[in-house]
Parts: sequence; structure tokens; C-alpha cells
Amino acid sequence: MNNKKKILITGSAGYIGSCLSAYLEKKFKVYTLDKKKQKNFIKKNKKNFFICNLLNKRKLEKILSLIKPDVIVHLAGKSTVNENIKKNKYYLDNVQATRNIIELMKKLNIKNIIFSSTAAVYAPKKNKIKEIDKLGPISSYGKTKLKVERLLNKNKNIKHVILRFFNVSSCLAKPLVGEFHNPETHLIPISVFKALKGDKINIFGKDYPTKDGTCVRDYIHVKDICIAIHKSINFFKKKQNLTINIGNGKGITNREILLNLKKILKKKINYKFMQKRKGDHPYLICNISKAKRKINWKPKYSKVINILNDEIKWSKYLIKNKFIRKFANVQK
Ligand code: UDP
Repeated sequence: MNNKKKILITGSAGYIGSCLSAYLEKKFKVYTLDKKKQKNFIKKNKKNFFICNLLNKRKLEKILSLIKPDVIVHLAGKSTVNENIKKNKYYLDNVQATRNIIELMKKLNIKNIIFSSTAAVYAPKKNKIKEIDKLGPISSYGKTKLKVERLLNKNKNIKHVILRFFNVSSCLAKPLVGEFHNPETHLIPISVFKALKGDKINIFGKDYPTKDGTCVRDYIHVKDICIAIHKSINFFKKKQNLTINIGNGKGITNREILLNLKKILKKKINYKFMQKRKGDHPYLICNISKAKRKINWKPKYSKVINILNDEIKWSKYLIKNKFIRKFANVQK
């Protein structure tokens, strides 16, 4: 029991963080850290939860020296592409916060970190994106994530696994934990929630150069993300660094998401086309062969029907318990 590895998850009150802490709980000794409290629908083991802003280096040092984690899973940061957020805020929450973690890791001899990066570090491409493809983030979000990747690459005495996530979606079914952004901007939670309520879904753009004119994305079930992180923890045995894409490996259009929802819910889906959203790429699809090769991971839960069915369970739970969900307007 006592030999279980100690894993510290930063950003544990966020979407992936909440799912991951629930998923890893029985496998490791899990510690969680966030600058804010867990949302009230997620039950947490309060004993191992620390409230700390990563920019407060002194407090962070106390916590890290107390825990001395074997691995830090660093998920905290500004996570949506939103050009309305001041660039400096992205820099502080994404780059400076990670710089603090790295400096303290060196000081306290903490060796391993898993960093959640993003598909937004790549330059746009029509075909499946490989890790060796051209980098070229256009959003502040993507740029700051890439800066952190470079910071990690420079620090040779710390081992890292960088996971470039594509479109993370859906929920953990057991225990039930899911996505709850305020406001919500993502297609899957918005369309499932609105479809259940019979509300109108806005689809941004219908004349993209894709097979049906709507954008193509690569949706990956959050449970597959948790498994990828679990496998990355085990990868540290090899004492190598690694950067890999984590996605489904298949693209699906916005219109096809709605068609699948219609099939599952057996009802007409109410939607209208709106103007294109600023900064959207027509295609974003992942090549997952490196993840297969290096950590023996491939998606198991990410068929679109499964993603939508689980998200339906989560949305029904939120509706039944009268959680107020806000949605962003056209621009993110
Ligand atoms: N989208 C949409 N309506 C919405 C939210 C998103 O049509 O209410 C589209 C968005 O323009 C993009 C796709 O759905 O083409 C995926 O967007 P999402 O925000 O889920 O993920 P992103 O790929 O931007 O990270």
C-alpha cells in the first residue's frame, strides 16, 4: 500500500483534472492542487487537496516539500483559445506558473513531470498531424503552451512527457465526472445539452473546404486521456523524454456530430448556421502512431457514439440537478 507512487495533479478542479484525480485514485497516492475549490458536484478527498496559485512560489514550495511527489501531472493553466483574455494573463498562468514548478522541482529534487499541451501548437494542416510536423501556433494559448514545451526541453535534469491533446470530450461514467466550463464554448457539451433541452445549436461556418462545409475535429474521450496519462506515468521508468499526440486519429465534421446526436436521441436536432468563428481551422486531425509505439496507447472509448452517449449521461445529470450552464456567444 505504502509503496504506491505519489502523484500530484495541478489544475485538479478543472475538467481533465477532476476526471483524472477520480481515475487515478485507486492506482496511486494522489494529491490534488488548484487555485480554486472543486465544484460542488464532485466529491473529493479533502485531505489530499491543496489550494494554491502556482504564481505563489513560496506557498507552492511548502506544498511540494511536504508531498515530494514522484510525478507531477501539470494540467493547470488557461485552457481555452480566447483572444479576449489579455496576453499577459496567458503568460502568467501558463508560462510563469510552469517556470515556478520547474525551478522548485530542481531545488527539491523532484524528477518527473507530465505536461498537458495541445494541438494548438501546430501550424494548420489538412492531413493527419504528426509530432514532427510544422509548429506554428496562432493563438496566445498555443504560443504559451509551446513556450512551456521549450522550457521543459531545455531543462535536462527533469524528465518530461508532453502530451499534445486534441479535442478532449465527454465524461467519466464511474464516478460521474465531466466538463463544466463557465461559459461553455465546446461543441460536444453545448450540442448535447441543447439537444436534450430542445434548444437551438449554433454551428459556426458552413463553407469551409471540407466534405460538408463544416469544420473537422478529432474528438478524444476523457477516459482515453486518463489512460494515456496513466501510461505516461509508467513511461518514466525508461528515463527518457517524450512528446506525443493524444487524439482519436479520426476526423468528424460539426454537421456529422449533429447527425449522430439525431440518431442516438431519435429526435430532430434544432440548429442554425452562424458566421465563422475567428481563428478556427477547417481541419484538426491527429496521427497517433507515435503514442501507440512509445506508450502502447490507443483510444478505446472514443467512438463518436460512445463519446455522445456518455456526454448525454453527464448532461442529464446536470439538467436533473438544475445546474445553470452558460454558453459563450459566437466568438470564443
Ligand atoms: N462549434 C460550433 N458551435 C459551438 C461551439 C463550437 O459550431 O457552439 C464549432 C467550432 O467552430 C469548431 C468545432 O465546433 O469548428 C469545435 O470547436 P470546439 O470549441 O469544441 O473545439 P476547438 O477545436 O475550437 O478547440
